[in-house]
Amino acid sequence: PSQGYDVVIVGAGAAGLMCALTAGYAGRRVLVLDHANKPGKKILMSGGGRCNFTNLGTSPANFFSANPHFCISALKRYRPEHFVELVERHGLDYVEKAPGQLFCAHSAKELLDVLLTECEWAGVELRLKSAVERIETAGEGMRLETSAGRIEAGAVVIATGGLSIPTMGATGFGYDVARQFGLEVTATRPALVPFTLTSQWKARAADLAGVACEVAVSAVRDGQRLGPGRERRYREPMLFTHRGLSGPGMLQVSSYWQPGDELEIDLFPGLDLSAALAEARQATPRRQLSTWLAERLPRRLAQALVEWHGEDPILAEFSNARIAAWRERLGAWRLKPAGTEGWRTAEVTLGGVDTRSISSQDFSVEGLPQLRFIGEVLDVTGELGGYNFQWAWASGVACGSSL
Ligand code: FAD
Repeated sequence: PSQGYDVVIVGAGAAGLMCALTAGYAGRRVLVLDHANKPGKKILMSGGGRCNFTNLGTSPANFFSANPHFCISALKRYRPEHFVELVERHGLDYVEKAPGQLFCAHSAKELLDVLLTECEWAGVELRLKSAVERIETAGEGMRLETSAGRIEAGAVVIATGGLSIPTMGATGFGYDVARQFGLEVTATRPALVPFTLTSQWKARAADLAGVACEVAVSAVRDGQRLGPGRERRYREPMLFTHRGLSGPGMLQVSSYWQPGDELEIDLFPGLDLSAALAEARQATPRRQLSTWLAERLPRRLAQALVEWHGEDPILAEFSNARIAAWRERLGAWRLKPAGTEGWRTAEVTLGGVDTRSISSQDFSVEGLPQLRFIGEVLDVTGELGGYNFQWAWASGVACGSSL
């Protein structure tokens, strides 16, 4: 038997649920389909289980896309304060962990419950464990063949997300649909992902597993730094792990890094190392370098640095040339990662459905208004810090309110 809806949304993630409740409140008959056995799995696992659901400082500059202007309109129309207002209406407790970064105070499940409650109030129908087998145009609308039968819809919204964490239900379905209807898909690669190291560095990082420190980091290609802002680098913590390098700074810079690139890590961001070492030579000439380092870095890292470089002189023995050498080692440490941990642990997908044939107003496909793409499946990817969810909410609302 054929079933009819105004809107069928494929993907019960952040963008799909937001779009669904918006269209539902606008009086549309909405069905959300997902092949997973539960909605919003990535919401549940995000932000270490507490979901960094927005960033109050969100601006288009926080996003990567081949078409950087595309995200402006939706972000401007649905701002972080709008989402905060929504969760506050439900009494959700949240905390600002870092400036602008809002997390659930207790658990991401509470945030998912807000969305599911809203969907229920808006009369949205949710169908899980449902696979879409075929999708085609049918007059002014669309027709879907699914594992639960044929469905006719006035419009279909693809909200199937990116490729990261395949065990959580990620698929390339959205990209296949895009290609089927003649859209381009820009090259995809895992981002916000830890780095793996080659054997020597891997062993060294493993010895330091659990040690963290604030760094400034950029990717380096052909001698050029790649990163944000004027300095082209992120200033955030780095974490040594058994597999390599992680922590917010490393996740951030992974969005700029490509195979073959080096990383440049400054272990003393904001400090003029040459001046500081020269001053220390004067003030405390009998002190050993490792002692000086341990006053400013985690002790295990300080010890490891002098071991890696095979010398731990007293500061009086520092010639200007030696100071210059240590300035490089500590302030511009270059190393070439073996790769990244890939889709298995990446938080997001860079690249995706090319936005140049998508309306930035209602997210419909040019010449095919009954087909739409929202959320991470599009070639719009945020930095770490709640921007990716803000994009999901904003694109979901822009699309849902126009259906
Ligand atoms: P998703 O939320 O991925 O939803 C897609 C849905 O589509 C899923 O339910 C999936 O089952 C379904 N689907 C896929 N293929 C099919 C198919 N063929 N048929 C039917 N259904 C299908 N972002 C932040 O802003 N803050 C954070 O704290 C944060 N932490 C993260 C932590 C981790 C570990 C990960 C992996 C990501 C994190 N992100 C975070 C990124 C964020 O989760 C995503 O950007 C966001 O979920 C994208 O929303 P979406 O709705 O586009 O896709």
